[in-house]
Amino acid sequence: MSKIVIIGGGHAAAQLATSLRMKKFEGDVTLVSDEPVVPYQRPPLSKMYLSGEISADRLPILREQAYEGAGIKLKLGLRAIKVDRSARTVTLADGSALAYDKLILAVGGHARRLTCPGHDLAGVHYVRTMTDTDSMRGEFNTARSIVIIGGGYIGLEVAAVARKAGKKVTVLEAADRILQRVVAPEVSEFYTALHRAEGVDIHTGQMVTEIEGNDRASAVVTADGSRFEADMVVAGIGLIANTDLAEGAGLETTPAGITVNATCQTSDPDIYAVGDVTWHHNAHYDRWLRLESVQNAVDQAKVAISHIMGEDEPYDALPWFWSDQYGLKLQIAGLSQGYDTLVTRGSPEERSAAFFYLKEGRMLAADCVGRIAEFMNAKKIIAAGVNVDENMLKDDSRPFKEIAAEILGS
Ligand SMILES: Cc1cc2nc3c(=O)[nH]c(=O)nc-3n(C[C@H](O)[C@H](O)[C@H](O)COP(=O)(O)OP(=O)(O)OC[C@H]3O[C@@H](n4cnc5c(N)ncnc54)[C@H](O)[C@@H]3O)c2cc1C
Repeated sequence: MSKIVIIGGGHAAAQLATSLRMKKFEGDVTLVSDEPVVPYQRPPLSKMYLSGEISADRLPILREQAYEGAGIKLKLGLRAIKVDRSARTVTLADGSALAYDKLILAVGGHARRLTCPGHDLAGVHYVRTMTDTDSMRGEFNTARSIVIIGGGYIGLEVAAVARKAGKKVTVLEAADRILQRVVAPEVSEFYTALHRAEGVDIHTGQMVTEIEGNDRASAVVTADGSRFEADMVVAGIGLIANTDLAEGAGLETTPAGITVNATCQTSDPDIYAVGDVTWHHNAHYDRWLRLESVQNAVDQAKVAISHIMGEDEPYDALPWFWSDQYGLKLQIAGLSQGYDTLVTRGSPEERSAAFFYLKEGRMLAADCVGRIAEFMNAKKIIAAGVNVDENMLKDDSRPFKEIAAEILGS
């Protein structure tokens, strides 16, 4: 096998390139991305890149020279539009075609768009690509008031950056609490209190029905008739997986993503998919899911390359994720869905706490705010699948490392 084509310009694509280099793959590798720049880190787009604390030159995951040095050909600013599985070619938007022996789809997703009247007015923004953040920067710097639609991680991170910049910030969330899809009510309460203390106006149960404005957005209207004035609007309302290429090629997909097996192969064994775009099985939780996390993109890329190189290292990772708001780091280990008990350790009031999600006495997940030891050790406890004692977890007078060692019997 001598030709690998990678489609994508995110974390997964960069890791594919790194892994191929590390495994000393000697064939022909081409990386195609429809973005005009080398694969870059997306998390800073709603954090330090938006705030201006870091500049664009800090975003690339690998420098262009690293691809050159590894003999990886880059085709940037070019979209892959068709995969012909019988001819084993990928057609690009400029009409050229690339032959492959193994094709890897690391195509991620795109921001879900608003569809209400006024959704296409100037001044309505999303945060998925560097271009998105660049195109809002001018307005962001001068706007006095910002309405953020969506109280998920991206919306809340933008809210934190905007408050730090002294803007009037309103967050509108359709559900009855922020972060509803991903955390327990207690953690939603913690983040609601945090943002309110920092001056963010949070409104839950508010379904946006219209963006008002003449030439540009000036207010957001919700179903109960409330009206929130804004100089600019940022929507963080979810991700849609880029399954179009796979669907066109007749690969198995679901509405959530491209279906892959434990070695990241799609329904065609010569085509792999990795990262945000995959609908995959998580062995630890025995669940099919799609994950939006850097760690998953990196882990799946490693699995795909190992498999291509003839090694058998099936995907078996415990999901983890992080979010930065007001200088506070939230680190999440595992998946909390299905928990029956929440144990709080530490002091949410003092902005230092760990929330452990238990099911039938075992730890499923942990949300750790400013608690690195809890995060690191919770990962081990979750992976071990052992019984835990609630009172022991709560005992903040003992270092968590010591508690974890006792739980793990080591
Ligand atoms: C603002 C923001 C903040 C985030 N913060 C965090 C965080 O704090 N922690 C965390 O773990 N995760 C975070 N994430 C999620 C994380 O960035 C993603 O999980 C990660 O980028 C997924 O990588 P990926 O390579 O699978 O997909 P993507 O990063 O989406 O990359 C896919 C690439 O493929 C390209 N592409 C798609 N279709 C084609 C085509 N047909 N032809 C050519 N190119 C194509 C796209 O343009 C893109 O470059 C954040 C995401 C965003 C947007």
